Amino acid sequence: MRKYVIMGVQGSGKGTQGGLLAAGLDLVHISVGDIFRWHVKNHTKLGAQVRRLVAAGELVGDDLVADVVRDRLQLHDWNYGFVIDGFPRNRRQAEFFLESYDLDGVIHLDLPDEEVWRRVLARRLCSRCGMDYNLIAHRPEVEGRCDVCDGDLVSREDDTPDALARRLGDYHSKIDPVLELFRGKEYVMTIDARADKATVQRAIRTRFNLPPYEG
Ligand SMILES: [Zn+2]
Repeated sequence: MRKYVIMGVQGSGKGTQGGLLAAGLDLVHISVGDIFRWHVKNHTKLGAQVRRLVAAGELVGDDLVADVVRDRLQLHDWNYGFVIDGFPRNRRQAEFFLESYDLDGVIHLDLPDEEVWRRVLARRLCSRCGMDYNLIAHRPEVEGRCDVCDGDLVSREDDTPDALARRLGDYHSKIDPVLELFRGKEYVMTIDARADKATVQRAIRTRFNLPPYEG
């Protein structure tokens, strides 16, 4: 069984890389962001709570994140292991996680803040079908329109410069200490996340001596 944590600032591609790694090694990809987005989309009670926080420009609290992750891991559907992204969010959670799960490694996707700005502010979302676009990496064929359903492309409501500055500040103040903790106890591999996604995935596999990426 293999258990990994993948860490990186928003826009570093940790969702994509976690997904590729999980698909290739038969692991379960646990993305805290995806779990919350699912709840928002399906109008659950938790989703309503998250929506209120986001609308108020606040972040989802660490304890709420910890509850969601604990519930998810308790499903025990990860026979071959898991890749988790979006957790742990502070040192206390990291210590608890290290005591509870025997991690095989921590993948740290390193992306300079100026590149985060460029990537995140280029993201667009179809207001009708929800398809993701990116004005740098995945441009729509017709400006401002969805290729699939011709819906209007909009920014995510939390992708404003103010909100991004706040999230970046929050990330560094909380996650940098978590990384320090992991560096002292676990196998942390820092991967340059500026390359294209196949190159980044190959680098992850090489650094952890995993089967090569065929994509
Ligand atoms: Zn669409």
